[in-house]
Amino acid sequence: MLKEQVAVITGAGRGIGAEIAKALAQNHANIVIVDYSALDAVQDTIAEIKALGVTVQYYQCDVSNFQKTKEVVDSIVKEFGKIDILVNNAGITADKILLRMEESDWDRVLNINLKGSFNMTKHTTTHMMRKKYGRIVNISSVVALMGNVGQANYVASKAGLIGLTKTVAKEFGGKNITVNAIAPGYIKTAMTDALSEEVRNSMLKMVPLGYLGEVKDIANAVLFLVSPSARYITGVTLKVDGGMYI
Ligand code: NAP
Repeated sequence: MLKEQVAVITGAGRGIGAEIAKALAQNHANIVIVDYSALDAVQDTIAEIKALGVTVQYYQCDVSNFQKTKEVVDSIVKEFGKIDILVNNAGITADKILLRMEESDWDRVLNINLKGSFNMTKHTTTHMMRKKYGRIVNISSVVALMGNVGQANYVASKAGLIGLTKTVAKEFGGKNITVNAIAPGYIKTAMTDALSEEVRNSMLKMVPLGYLGEVKDIANAVLFLVSPSARYITGVTLKVDGGMYI
């Protein structure tokens, strides 16, 4: 389905991003991973994708660095000639109630989750415009829609990402570039493994389907949004949350 396409996924060294990269590779897209980790830490993910018979390229890059992301995007375009798909997935948490939250907690989360997506989107759309084709998917969160105690920085970054999605969708619709967001609920990854048993159980009580999501649930949603079946969908936020926010 995605043969000959070039997909750039940030934060794809592990977790949800790695699963998205594998799902796109299974559909024959060539994959570019942009991640903060050193190459050694992402070797397993790269090997799994290579085994699917596509080209995989890796760039170590902090997405919050404007200049570095420009260099990375330019070098991807130099090597592959284009970027068809961009998934802004890299994200972190630094949870504290507002009374205890430091300025540095706020800046770090906003810089990676929101500015990082701005950086990658700004540099990539320049090239997508010329080809008159692009599919951008931003990984937000269901907490962007409902708020969450202890996550003022994270929720603000993920709500900002929804605003960015809608605006870029309007600005680039005429260039055949669609821009959508996914709002995952509670998905089993290292990010959520860090939560206490108590928090995990209380979150589970909020999920009508009664079980936690898996990385493949998010990867499947990305796959749909970048597929020809979704060509008339832009500016939406697709909740993939087991009904957590109804
Ligand atoms: P994860 O397991 O913590 O993986 C995050 C990935 O992002 C890691 O590979 C990490 O690299 C990379 N990363 C972090 N900072 C970066 C930076 N500055 N530049 C480039 N890459 C960076 O997280 P996850 O659970 O898969 O989450 C993926 C996305 O889904 C995030 O945006 C998250 O907010 C969102 N999300 C997750 C859930 C959930 O329940 N898990 C729910 C809603 C939304 P390192 O390995 O070097 O740290």
